[in-house]
Amino acid sequence: MAEIDGKIVDALARVSQAFRVLLRNEGKSNALSPIQIQILIFLLFQSGERSKVIALARHFDLTKATVSDSIKSLAQKCLVEKYVDAADVRSYMIVLTGRGRELALKSAGFASAIEEPLDILSPMQKEIIFTGLLQLIRQFHLAGIISIQQMCFTCSHYDHLGSGHYCKLLKSGLADKELKLDCADHQLSL
Ligand code: SF4
Repeated sequence: MAEIDGKIVDALARVSQAFRVLLRNEGKSNALSPIQIQILIFLLFQSGERSKVIALARHFDLTKATVSDSIKSLAQKCLVEKYVDAADVRSYMIVLTGRGRELALKSAGFASAIEEPLDILSPMQKEIIFTGLLQLIRQFHLAGIISIQQMCFTCSHYDHLGSGHYCKLLKSGLADKELKLDCADHQLSL
């Protein structure tokens, strides 16, 4: 491994540590675990199929049993409610209650302590870091380290446009900064 590779791995571990610390602190102040906080924030932006236990387990790379335990605990705290899917009575969708939504909105800013320092980077530096991270996430997925990511680089609608990017669904070129990490229209590329 080249020296720079080891330093990148070390740097990624430290960024990950920063997220863990912030999530833990956010959870502590609300008597919730880090994953419970993440589920609440996730549900702010997801509904339907994407709010089912199986989708949550896939997104967070956890077992369905672990997610179900967290949902049970959140429901006991009146932060989420379950609705049986009329099209498939064996599964249910999870929806934030009013209190859960309030808490999720407040907690969604937990990463602002990381976002603010990004201001020291130029727009070009941000794009280089962003596309580099997307490539890494894709490789982690291909290596089986993390599950399917709803991102452009694993999407059947994605194509190259010269040295750039193109979405066949949107019929539009995508600048580096427009590449998506979590797209609702994602179709897994086989
Ligand atoms: S559908 Fe979404 S994830 Fe797929 S290429 Fe288009 S923008 Fe990217």
